[in-house]
Amino acid sequence: MIKYVPEMTSVVLEEIPDRVSLAVDISNCRGNCVGCHSPFLKLDIGEELTPAIVDALIADNFGVNCFLFLGEGRDPEALLALAAHIRSAHPAMEIALYSGREEVEPAIWDAFDYVKVGPYRPECGPLNERTTNQRLYHVRRTAAGMADEGLRTGNARTGFPLWDTAGPFARRGWQDASSAIPACAEDITYRFWRKGIDPNR
Ligand code: SF4
Repeated sequence: MIKYVPEMTSVVLEEIPDRVSLAVDISNCRGNCVGCHSPFLKLDIGEELTPAIVDALIADNFGVNCFLFLGEGRDPEALLALAAHIRSAHPAMEIALYSGREEVEPAIWDAFDYVKVGPYRPECGPLNERTTNQRLYHVRRTAAGMADEGLRTGNARTGFPLWDTAGPFARRGWQDASSAIPACAEDITYRFWRKGIDPNR
């Protein structure tokens, strides 16, 4: 089960570049960020986020084009099922996940159009600081929902390329190297570095 905090649900413009996002705060966070901005999200609070509630939230917020999960809870299967529901029932909607983890599984890259990784570390700063350890990726897809054809190298099931084991983090020598970032996932963190916003989540 995935739970969200209804009273915190809002439409946001800055968390995902160029998107009008419906942001839903997910509780039962399994992260342990130093300087956590919302410790209450580690608790088992809120209400179950069901496909019917997702549909109602989207219907009540006309004009949004991205459904943003702020957190991922403790039930990965339920999270992926919700993402699959949005993909199926709202094909024009993009799907984003703010994860506080260093790495996420291939199924996450497969299900989401935007994935943020990396715990918040006060000494590194949030996304809008060049020193941040956090990264936001945009998973490039074709109109058919597959990974960008130009980058594909052979995963027949998902269309994703083989994992880029060198990884952009590893190539650039960053601290939080992840070895499982698909080559079709573009690091767009730099988009935040030109703005005076505080997407510290
Ligand atoms: S992911 Fe967010 S809610 Fe979870 S511990 Fe980190 S800052 Fe707190």
